[in-house]
Amino acid sequence: MPAAASPSPQQKSSSASPPAAPGSGLSATQRALRKLGLVRDIDFALYLPMRYEDETQIVKLADAHDGDVAQIEAVVRSCEVVYRPRRQLIATVDDGSDTCQLRFFNFYPSLHKQLAPGSRVRIRGELKGGFLGRQMLHPTIKAAGTDLPEALTPVYSTISGLAQPALRREVRAGLARSILDETIPLDAWQPQWSLRQSLHFLHYPTPDVAMATLEDRSHPAWQRVKAEELLAQQLSQQQARHERASQRAPALRPNVSPGSLSEQLLAVLPFALTGAQRRAVEEIGRDLGRELPMHRLLQGDVGSGKTVVAALAAALTIDAGHQCALMAPTEILAAQHFGKLVQWLDPLLAERGLRVAWLTGSQKKSEREVMTAAVESGEAALVIGTHAVISEKVRFARLALAIIDEQHRFGVAQRLALRGKAGGLNPEGKGALEPHLLMMSATPIPRTLAMSYYADLDVSTLDELPPGRTPVVTKLVADHRRDEVIDRIQAQLSQGRQVYWVCPLIEESEAVDLRNATATRDELADALGDAVGVGLLHSRMPTAEKQDVMAQFSAGRLDVLVSTTVIEVGVDVPNASLMVIEHAERFGLSQLHQLRGRVGRGAAASACVLLYAPGESGRVGEAARARLRAMAETADGFEIARRDLEIRGPGEFLGARQSGAPLLRFADLATDTRLLDWARELAPRMLQAHPELAQRHIDRWLGTRSEYLRA
Ligand code: ADP
Ligand code: MG
Repeated sequence: MPAAASPSPQQKSSSASPPAAPGSGLSATQRALRKLGLVRDIDFALYLPMRYEDETQIVKLADAHDGDVAQIEAVVRSCEVVYRPRRQLIATVDDGSDTCQLRFFNFYPSLHKQLAPGSRVRIRGELKGGFLGRQMLHPTIKAAGTDLPEALTPVYSTISGLAQPALRREVRAGLARSILDETIPLDAWQPQWSLRQSLHFLHYPTPDVAMATLEDRSHPAWQRVKAEELLAQQLSQQQARHERASQRAPALRPNVSPGSLSEQLLAVLPFALTGAQRRAVEEIGRDLGRELPMHRLLQGDVGSGKTVVAALAAALTIDAGHQCALMAPTEILAAQHFGKLVQWLDPLLAERGLRVAWLTGSQKKSEREVMTAAVESGEAALVIGTHAVISEKVRFARLALAIIDEQHRFGVAQRLALRGKAGGLNPEGKGALEPHLLMMSATPIPRTLAMSYYADLDVSTLDELPPGRTPVVTKLVADHRRDEVIDRIQAQLSQGRQVYWVCPLIEESEAVDLRNATATRDELADALGDAVGVGLLHSRMPTAEKQDVMAQFSAGRLDVLVSTTVIEVGVDVPNASLMVIEHAERFGLSQLHQLRGRVGRGAAASACVLLYAPGESGRVGEAARARLRAMAETADGFEIARRDLEIRGPGEFLGARQSGAPLLRFADLATDTRLLDWARELAPRMLQAHPELAQRHIDRWLGTRSEYLRA
């Protein structure tokens, strides 16, 4: 069990002793459990199996069909390690009815001993038919002859360093220790299946329970768990909204005089706002004028022009005599914002004796001190940087607006750290004030989903791209046709254009046969010749070096930029007209769309090439194929989001976007609408009538998550 305190569910998380700092004195197992969010007993109890395995029977190979997951007992006939076409262990086994080949690409040396010819083993895996006879890829191997379990075996989602049997033991112990008293008021739930009963049923099926029953998510046990989870989510959202309703933000009086910063900014912009941008600025302006802290999401496709909306929001804030902070998840992205906003705003601010400040973790101490002093004095009307902007040491004179770009990449903790930042030094001395919050995202959440799920968020949408863009042509190309892609690159370069080449990994790994970015850079440099500048950008490079490479590419001194996904967000180099994404099948749909958005920013016709390579099975998986098809068929971010939702389902969809928000592990927003309605309706009544129960329910389900995110 984890060494950290395990408060009973009755305790509020606020009164529980905090888990030890990450990594301090924890065993590898404990660290792995912690990564999975498993700290308190109740966390284990609520960690339900992702599936079940039937280990109750031994079958004969001759009776099993291809595609079945089969458990057999057989004698090893041969076992050897071969190195071509790649390193693998191949064993042949015989169960008297038939033979079968076992193949392992990753294996511990001990496997070789376990599969010594002549030994008898229990093998479990998916049977595949094939040209070379039947085989199993990476089956599990156990000693033969041990007792068979009577019931289905739960399988928990795990990570490397934590073996399934160990995790099973931990879950069993945690469940046994959990006090599973009811937190849902009796009048709100017909208690056919209690929480305790439901969890025991799902963790430890009895021998009479069939696989189909357990997998049926409409079973009362699953319904109960999903209802619990949705209720926790709704309670915490509505609680947050209530809290916010009692908080105060500085109400910013609009300044529409011709000499105002926002008017001057509009005048210096090299373009007119789109209708959507104007609407968003108005919505934000209205919110800023209120005492209720704004909590608004500005969503718009890549290239829809969110930055200028952010700049105008900052200008409105500065016009009212306050400060604005703008944060981005990476230094490169923050630097891009900085470059643009300095260019637009700095001359105008200088006339007012104000300036833009730059704050990141990597900057020199002396420079940092100058910047924080300017923030503290109020001279820095706008502060741009990474999350260093909200570090404890930074004290704002009169912060009124915090803007978070790519908000899904920030955790709840970082958003919470903003809390109270507007207080302290506020000039009116009215007690702690909260800053208004504007979050920006290029991965839109379909509106219906946003409305039903996010009780605590207002949304502005940029549904219009600036005029004059030519759509990016997207092509799917099989990896063996790389040569043609090189030709394409050459064609672009000869027109003076620039090219991005994105690779999914930076290091050669035995497990995943990916070309690494370094090798790709060399390969491209070779193929394109000496006259072409090929740069490399990857996530492990020191920040200064990254910025240098980025600056060279922006200035056109590099023609081709090979990179890992560090360019995923925000990069703006209008002269780049070709984006090549290698192993596109490995990327998520919204990520592909983001990457594609790096081209087509100028007037020139642009293209995106998605290179894909079939996997071990010789095919690209079904979901990957659906993603690639969606990319080829549409360039509209909202349509992409809709397809993504369809491919992944809402739980994962939101999960991937809202790394900070509590994920739904069990409920499915698309199909569990009835339960969601039930939870949405119950939550406010419960907060009113049973506030302690409500708090206990939230802590039980979300307690550890928020502790983690704060850590
Ligand atoms: P994103 O929403 O992806 O952050 P940006 O703010 O980076 O988009 O804007 C993309 C590009 O479009 C930038 O070069 C920006 O200057 C330009 N842009 C923004 N708004 C307009 C507009 N109304 N008309 C023309 N160009 C615009
Ligand atoms: Mg942007």
